[in-house]
Order: sequence, then structure tokens, then C-alpha cells
Amino acid sequence: MTYLAVPISAAEIQTAKKQITSAASSGAQILELRLDYLKNLTPDIIAGVIKEAHKTALSVIATCRDKTEGGQNDYPQNIRIQALTAAITAGCDYIDCEFENFCRNDFAGPIKKALADKPGTKLILSAHNFNSKFKNVKKLFSEITALFPDCIPKLAYMVQNINDCFDGLDILKDNGNSIVICMGRAGIISRIIAKKLGAFLTFASLDSDSATAPGQLSIRQLKESFRFESIDRDTELFGIIAEPVAHSISPAVHNFCFAAEKMNRLYLPLLVTGGQIGFDNFLDNVLHRPWLGFKGFSVTIPHKTNAVEYIRGSGNYLEPLSAKIGAVNTLTIGRNGRISAFNTDYAGALDALTAAMGIDRKHLNGVNCTVIGAGGAARAVVAGLTDTGAKVTIYNRTEKKAQDMALEFGCRHASMSDIKNLNAKIIINCTSIGMSPNINAAAVPAEVIKSDMVVLDTVYNPVRTLLLSQAAEAGARTITGVEMFIGQAAEQFRHFTQKTCDKKIIRAAVAMALPD
Ligand code: NAP
Repeated sequence: MTYLAVPISAAEIQTAKKQITSAASSGAQILELRLDYLKNLTPDIIAGVIKEAHKTALSVIATCRDKTEGGQNDYPQNIRIQALTAAITAGCDYIDCEFENFCRNDFAGPIKKALADKPGTKLILSAHNFNSKFKNVKKLFSEITALFPDCIPKLAYMVQNINDCFDGLDILKDNGNSIVICMGRAGIISRIIAKKLGAFLTFASLDSDSATAPGQLSIRQLKESFRFESIDRDTELFGIIAEPVAHSISPAVHNFCFAAEKMNRLYLPLLVTGGQIGFDNFLDNVLHRPWLGFKGFSVTIPHKTNAVEYIRGSGNYLEPLSAKIGAVNTLTIGRNGRISAFNTDYAGALDALTAAMGIDRKHLNGVNCTVIGAGGAARAVVAGLTDTGAKVTIYNRTEKKAQDMALEFGCRHASMSDIKNLNAKIIINCTSIGMSPNINAAAVPAEVIKSDMVVLDTVYNPVRTLLLSQAAEAGARTITGVEMFIGQAAEQFRHFTQKTCDKKIIRAAVAMALPD
């Protein structure tokens, strides 16, 4: 079992009591009393807090962290030793000592003696680096276990790059009853996957204000967004590779769909930095560790083209239309570790259009379409439209890019200054114009929109963009970027699981995930 541990980090005893009650009712499975946060550290106060914590029937860890390893108050060594021995005497289930300190007899001596008198209390020996990865994570882990073989070893280190997590994950895989936390936004996966790998515990905060380490998720996030209870060793992993990733609604949407379809699958936010090299290293790291159970990825800015380069360089499968687009947003990992790469953005856009217009894709043949933009989304949309035989004209702020794309896909381009003369049945905005926070901008002047037109805005935040409001006012048929998002997510789900997910479920998930 991997405990969901909640730190109790209060300066006052009354606040600590409130936090204990709140943690227990929120689903904490073990409490970590951060004694170093308390203002007064008398043995009576410590015994009182431990008694209060034990009333919840949860196991309790007492920690009195050294300031040099992230402690809140700068208590001197003798006070910290006194606090930990008092916690042992009061019947605490675990105490957490810094490995560095425990290497010294003056620190370890009194604690070992107290532990010998109370064999029910177990020792966690921990090392923390709040700046970077330890020089040699695996060596340090061995040193900790060698010093006190009965301890629960704990490593917590900062990662700036997700690839720094893998040494820690290897340790968890090979040493079940241990703790490895990769701190920082790039390390979030270590906090979630810990349960799959059988770690002793993972930490979650009561709320985002009471987090005691960078990247710590709240209990609610861990339980609701990442379905902590349902994670086990067989859980298959998916995720979105992006930089930044925090704003992405894909984890909320895919996890909702996996839950609705009762699938033992989990979808993670994967902050992959470092451009092509960072991307390549990440996929190599994942492929070298099939036991992690990664089965597929969504890929978004800035990695859609990096993914194509990786697939081409490694001789994996690239869907022909995706090759033409030059960008992919979906990767699946087959049983033999073979990767297949797809682009579901074009399918999402075409499905949104055809569903709203009540036609099949073949009916787009010969239809005049205007595409604004020449970036990744535009490439997917233009590839999809020209594949159906639609007559596409591309407009873009940087005209040369529109010209190059038109040449590549065998369609027309025009200058933005001529947009007032556009003549099309369908207009698709593939730029970020109108996206939050710049919501008062539209990619097309209102006067060019006619009542017999169909207008699709790929922007989905906000859902109702200025362009769509103007199109609705002109009497045109409007299609939101949400419809495209739902279409591409449905296609991804099919690639990930070989099953279809009811679009009503995806729509409900998107509605919940998008800001009001
Ligand atoms: P991208 O590759 O960075 O391309 C951005 C495009 O927007 C370029 O054509 C750029 O023109 C243009 N642009 C940006 N700011 C502009 C401005 N102020 N004025 C005029 N043109 C501007 O991005 P992308 O991946 O294609 O994404 C574009 C949009 O599509 C985003 O809003 C994204 O949310 C949306 N999208 C939606 C879905 C969905 O499922 N609904 C899926 C994918 C993308 P230049 O070439 O001149 O720089």
C-alpha cells in the first residue's frame, strides 16, 4: 500500500488540530506532523499533538526538519533531537531524520536509544535537495540503506527537467518500501506514479496554500483529478507532452473519460523542456522502462514537430497524412515498444465541420474554404481539407508562410490586405487571435462574414470568441473550437484504447475543465 500522506504544518497547536481533523476527513491515510513549524516545542506540546493525531486512527510521522533541509523554524540540533525523542516516547509510529545528521553519533545516539526503548516506532531516513538533482541519486540511496538497514529511505530532490525523475522512479521500482519525491513542476509525475510503483507514501497538501514542497499536489487534485485510489501496479499510463503544460485541459478530459469507461488508465501532465533533445530523451527514457506502463501520449506546443523528427529518426510508424502535415499530436506505444504517430487535429476539424453542416467529408470536395493562419493547426486543417478536395485559400500575417504552405498543399494563398474580398463557404480561424486574454480581437473583419457562410474558430478559450459572435450576428453558422477539441480528443481516445468514447462524455469533461 502507498499511503497518501498529508503534512500538518501549523505554528499554533489549535491550527494543527484543525488541520489534523481536516486532513483525516479529506482522505489522508497517514499524517506527517511537521514539528519544525510549531512555535513551541516542549515535550508536552509534542505529546499533545501526537495524541490528537492518533484520535483519527491514522498512523503518524513526526518530522522536525533541519533548516538546511527545508525546515520552517531554525531550531538548534539539541531541540530537534529532544523533539524527535519526545515524539518516540509519545508513541509516534514513524520519525523522520535527516540522513546527513544521522551519520553523526551526537545526533543519532539519543535517537537510536529512544527507538530501542520503543520498537513500535520506525525510522525514516531522508535527504533533501531543494535546488537540483543529487549528484548520484542511486549511490545516495544505497548509503542511506547501508547506514540503517531497517529504515524507510527517503529522497526528495528538485528537478528542472522531467528526465531527472527517471533515476528516482528506478529506485522506487526496485525498492518498494521507500520514498522518492521529485520536487518542482517537472517532477509531479513522481508524486502520482509513486503508487503504481509501490512507494511507501506520497505527499499531498490540504490545499495549495499549505503545500510544504514545490510541486506538491493537493489531496483533492490527487484524489479527484488523478484518481489516486484506483491507481495500482497494472494502471496504464498516458499523458500530454508539452511546455508549458499546467494550463492544458487534456488531463482532466482524458482522466474523466477513462473513469467513465471504467478503464485502469491514468493520464498525466508531462512538462518536457529542452526542445528536441529534451523530447528525445524523454521518449528514450520511457521506452527503456516498459514497466512504467506508458502506452500513449498527446503532444502539443512546442513538441508536435519534435515528435515527427523523433519518429523519422527512429524508423517508427508515421501516418502518411501526418507526414504531409509535418506535425503529430498523438503517439501510441505498441506491445513491442514500437511507436505509431498520428495527427488527430485534422480529423477533429473535419468532424466538427461535417457534423455541424450535416454532410460527409466527401461533400467538402470543391467547396471554397478560407483558412486564416499558417502554423501547426493550420497545417492540419489545410491537409485535411485539401485531402477531401476542398478549394482552400490561406491567409496569414506572415504572408511568406501562407505562400509556402499553399505551394506545399497545392492550394491558393492571398494577402491579408485582401481579406475583405474573400469568397468562401467556410472560414476557419487557425490563429490564436481572439484567445484569452486577448478576447477583443477577431481574425476576420465582421463585414466579410455573410449569412450563408460557416465559421469555425479553432480557439476554444473562450468558447464564444469575438469572431463567432460576429458570425452569429451576420446570420452565419458557427462552430466552436470546443467541437474540434472534442473531435480530436475522441480520435486520440480511439488510438489510445482501440475503443470509442461517447462524445457526450468528452463534451461533459471539456465543459467541466474549461474556465467559465
Ligand atoms: P502556431 O503554430 O504557433 O501558429 C500560430 C498562428 O497564429 C500563425 O499563423 C501566426 O501567424 C498566427 N498569429 C499568432 N498571433 C497573431 C496575431 N496577433 N495576429 C495575426 N496572426 C497571429 O499555433 P497553432 O498550434 O497553429 O495554434 C493556433 C490556434 O489553434 C491556437 O489558438 C490553438 O489553441 C488552436 N488549436 C485548437 C485546437 C482545437 O482542438 N480546438 C487544436 C490545435 C490548435 P504568423 O505565422 O505570422 O506568426
